[in-house]
Amino acid sequence: MAFAAKNDIKPLEKKLYLSSPTMHGEELRYMTEAFETNWMSTVGENINTVERLAAEKVGVRHAVALSCGTAALHLAMKLVGVRQGERVFCSDMTFDATVNPVVYEGGVPVFIDTERDTWNMDPEALEKAFELYPEVKTVVVAHLYGVPGKIDEIRAVCARHGAKIIEDAAESFGATYKGKQTGSFGTVGCISFNGNKIITGSAGGMLLTDSEEEANKVRKWSTQARERAPWYQHEELGYNYRMSNVIAGVVRGQLPHLEEHIAAKRAIYERYAEGFRGLPLTMNPYDTENSVPNFWLSCALMDEDAMCKQVRGETDVCYIKEAGKSCPTEILETLAAYNAEGRPIWKPMHMQPIYRMNGFVTREGSGRARTNAYIAGEGVDVGMDIFSRGLCLPSDNKMTPAEQDTVIELVRRCFA
Ligand SMILES: *Cc1c(COP(=O)(O)O)cnc(C)c1O
Repeated sequence: MAFAAKNDIKPLEKKLYLSSPTMHGEELRYMTEAFETNWMSTVGENINTVERLAAEKVGVRHAVALSCGTAALHLAMKLVGVRQGERVFCSDMTFDATVNPVVYEGGVPVFIDTERDTWNMDPEALEKAFELYPEVKTVVVAHLYGVPGKIDEIRAVCARHGAKIIEDAAESFGATYKGKQTGSFGTVGCISFNGNKIITGSAGGMLLTDSEEEANKVRKWSTQARERAPWYQHEELGYNYRMSNVIAGVVRGQLPHLEEHIAAKRAIYERYAEGFRGLPLTMNPYDTENSVPNFWLSCALMDEDAMCKQVRGETDVCYIKEAGKSCPTEILETLAAYNAEGRPIWKPMHMQPIYRMNGFVTREGSGRARTNAYIAGEGVDVGMDIFSRGLCLPSDNKMTPAEQDTVIELVRRCFA
């Protein structure tokens, strides 16, 4: 570190994480209950209770507890009936678990560029995509970093073209749009209880639906698709995707703390926003009139003219330091040197080697195949631009204000 030698900030004693599990105590009680009653399987009171509580919270009729959010997304693809070779429109700036389940079913993801107001699927690009591929029947929409996307606009476009929405609310559990919970807007919704999410079961996820018939189908598929018969009788392909009653105990203990976690994350977001005043940085934006994010991750976007040169290869990166300028790489390396974990923005799917040959649609129409070469402003799509100039900051809800102030000061010094 160039300035580490002459500076007065000591590395943090306790590592600051991006987002790590926060336990409260009740989790252990419900896990122990499962243990002491021998309900150590995929049946039990914890599962029944978390399904009821999650459905109530989101405002849907049914929640089906599964082994993870990815399993929920996979069974969502089966519910809407994605077929071999069928194109499916997907959020581009998201985690790959949003998209992979399309491929599990033989579908072909086509990525929709991102808008700048919430960093989610751009309804204008989506409209453009339906001009190019009018046959598409399914759209998978994620709410990145816990910020609700432009749900009304996306729903209107999908309604015009007769397409169903699979809503990936894995990162946005507890976030609301016009007073309604994310996860309740799609034909099917999915949430995750992975270890880094706003609340966790250590693992786990849920599929959300208003249809009892669909909920029953998913419950059956997730437990090996057994038919009612005295023996193992199978008419359909089954999966071993059900949530364990032990995991459900952890989720059950966490659920009452969801709003408390959101409040802590919100305070972190706001402290960053305040602390970065005067720097050429903006926080990840949201629709302050219509939505309340869960503030899962706090992110920052650097102004274009405050970026020093930064070049990313497929798996490595370098930058050239310039006075008064910085880049996400410099900030991330600085934070790491002081024992704080940040992360680059999720690399857009259309830039991933595995999906580079898939379709990609921007407001202007069909996007060209991208490389990592980034020339500021030069015909760059929105996702690529945010990936280049943005970063995720330490957002752990156990971080103290003093620790966060150290992060803020370190970021500030990167622009020296
Ligand atoms: C975490 C995540 C998932 C997958 O959830 P798991 O429970 O880890 O399988 C899906 N989509 C997004 C956007 C996620 O962040």
